[in-house]
Amino acid sequence: MQIVFSEAQRAHAPQRFLVRGEWKPCPEKPERAQLLLDGLQPAGTDFEIMAPNRLSDEVIESAIAAVHVPRYLAFLKSAHARWKELPGSADLVTPNMHPRNRSDHYPASVVGQAGYHLQDTACPIGADTWTAAYASAASAVHAAQLVLDGRDAAYALCRPPGHHAYADMAGGFCYLNNSAIAAQYLRRKAKRVAIIDIDVHHGNGTQAIFYDRADVFTASVHADPSSYYPFFYGYADETGTGEGLGHNINVPLALGSDDAAYHAAIRRIIDETHKRNAETVVVALGLDAFEGDPLAGLKVTTRGFEEAGRLLGAMQLPTVLVQEGGYPAPELGLNLRAVLDGFAAGRGEAA
Ligand SMILES: [Zn+2]
Repeated sequence: MQIVFSEAQRAHAPQRFLVRGEWKPCPEKPERAQLLLDGLQPAGTDFEIMAPNRLSDEVIESAIAAVHVPRYLAFLKSAHARWKELPGSADLVTPNMHPRNRSDHYPASVVGQAGYHLQDTACPIGADTWTAAYASAASAVHAAQLVLDGRDAAYALCRPPGHHAYADMAGGFCYLNNSAIAAQYLRRKAKRVAIIDIDVHHGNGTQAIFYDRADVFTASVHADPSSYYPFFYGYADETGTGEGLGHNINVPLALGSDDAAYHAAIRRIIDETHKRNAETVVVALGLDAFEGDPLAGLKVTTRGFEEAGRLLGAMQLPTVLVQEGGYPAPELGLNLRAVLDGFAAGRGEAA
């Protein structure tokens, strides 16, 4: 399988993360990319690792702009420099407030704009955040292009991740919604695309971006949001709106659920994906459902990830796998390898 990753994705390195009122070391750190890459060694014939350098910046920027609104992108690009001009500013753009019911007014101040565009404190903006987020999105677009060119599947090692990012808001370590950008890009050829999100957290940004659309089916299995991030979204009764009604499915699982529950949810989502005649699939590949993940939501094993990969491979549809969550644990790379090996095995089975 072809693996797309840019060294520029390592540049974003937030140090702090607010947990129950305490600043803790941020788990979404550059080390994640290395752990994932280590899982793909030796590269050899199974994996070919490449940088996303084939497409022009114009193509990448237009793919990003097809999902995110102009003023949010302008904010992400400029916020840190503008913030540093403020007297006494800290190194990272971090919001003081999160307006719950935003008015029509858009503040000129970067402090106000930070409140507007950053939905929580897990997505601060440093000097290199835009560079890394852009490179992460470029990896997703490049992987999507490989599939448009006729490759059966490709994997984008996206870090920072993307599925909590909305069209105009960052959140939960995510700035640009890489899975959504890939899915929208695939629409250049495919009439119907499905995003299957197997991260332990609900893909709330992805859901919101496609909520009123029938051409991109969104489905997510995750830990029950009534007691787990993102808390306000990911419930089973969120099924889409307007033309998108019936084209969003959430399968929340009780905290601590095991492989059997995870696989049953994925099987159901695959069944619903086929019913909607999806031509191409984006897998929002979070590995944080792992039993040893520091974010501790579900109890999926390494063997369980292999089986999840097998189920997804056996769909026999062109697939872009986009890395989402999965936090530093010794098995992180093994779990990626397990999904990709399982996927290849699933592809080998009769449809
Ligand atoms: Zn996650």
